[in-house]
Amino acid sequence: MSVRLERPSSATPCWLRSRRLIYDAAANAGVTTDEECLEALGRAAEQLGESPTKAQYEEIGLTPASATIMKILGGWNAAKERAELKTFDRAVTGGQPVQPKPDWVDIPDDVEWEELTGQQRWYYKNREERIERKDRRRNEIRRWLYTYKDQRCECNRCGEERPPCLDFHHPGEKERDISTMVVDGYSKESIRKEIDRCTVLCANCHRIELRTADVVIFTRTQSQMGLPYP
Ligand SMILES: [Zn+2]
Repeated sequence: MSVRLERPSSATPCWLRSRRLIYDAAANAGVTTDEECLEALGRAAEQLGESPTKAQYEEIGLTPASATIMKILGGWNAAKERAELKTFDRAVTGGQPVQPKPDWVDIPDDVEWEELTGQQRWYYKNREERIERKDRRRNEIRRWLYTYKDQRCECNRCGEERPPCLDFHHPGEKERDISTMVVDGYSKESIRKEIDRCTVLCANCHRIELRTADVVIFTRTQSQMGLPYP
């Protein structure tokens, strides 16, 4: 009996697919993954300084939408539990006395522990862990971007393929810098979308490209002012 490898489809159970196929299927079909939902929740918590309510999450306008997150992770509180964010059940936590501040928790000098909300106290208690998680995430995205460059990118001018040499050049108005997006912990999906707006150039060709653009702008300004090009 021969074994035939089939293309991945939504009917194929996850455990049958290799990591690579999961990645490609998600990339090609625009499918939102659990991981992207969890990343977005983590980012929202970073931005807000507290575990986001659904309304807060919607207000800051991240993707995927809260409805998508709830669908994929089985509800808002279930999603927050998966993201290791505190869930707030008023019936359980309401009216309980404030526990004293643990010694290992640092808060700013002008902040009174007892006057903070439960969410704010939770934020300070989990700060270290969140910083660590953010670092882990940043490293993971860096590795992913390196592999992405390695497998899919080459310089549009000279064909240079080595990932450390490759830049993403924004031909028009630059919305977001790819390296800044990595540092800020944007999702792979957002980074991929931004990459699609860029031309891949090696560092040398990129520098020439930028210099040429500078000279064009410079000479245009000079001629408008009636000055000779030096
Ligand atoms: Zn080049």
